[in-house]
Amino acid sequence: MSDIEMNLPFPLDDNGYFRRECPFCCKEFKVLLEKEELTDLAQKGLDSFMVETQEATNLDEDEHSEVEFTCPYCGQAAVSGNWWTQEQLAYISVVTKNIMAKIVNENLIRPLKRTSRKYGSGMISVQFEGKEMEQQEPWISPEVNDMKVYDLPCCQRKIKVEDGWASRVFCFFCGFPH
Ligand SMILES: [Zn+2]
Ligand SMILES: [Zn+2]
Repeated sequence: MSDIEMNLPFPLDDNGYFRRECPFCCKEFKVLLEKEELTDLAQKGLDSFMVETQEATNLDEDEHSEVEFTCPYCGQAAVSGNWWTQEQLAYISVVTKNIMAKIVNENLIRPLKRTSRKYGSGMISVQFEGKEMEQQEPWISPEVNDMKVYDLPCCQRKIKVEDGWASRVFCFFCGFPH
């Protein structure tokens, strides 16, 4: 599957922040990521969905070597694949299904249709009534400019937390409590 290059653009807010959701407390926050980090995340998201529908190869190995990130609110840590919002997951799922549909249509359905045309008029009639798998239009809401910026001097990075949040903030990147 590594030869599949897919463009998976995620909406960012006007300051370039990307929405995340904690898998433990389910609160949302945003992180300011480098372009490469975002591309890498998107690719990993797609890969994980692809892997799920096939055999789970090397998944354990990957998880152990992966860096953990910390929730700014509750301070619990998880690897990068656990921070998708529900909407982002639904979006990745549609994009993944489209990729699968494309693979099936191009490699299975269309060649079979060609075969049936070729031999269809002879004594032996090969009929293939396969329908191509449909593709859905992936959709995700545009990002709004909510939440307040929080500086993380420990890692010299920035995140955005809920406006009303007055308790301590854990660094998403290193887990340091501020
Ligand atoms: Zn949390
Ligand atoms: Zn930090």
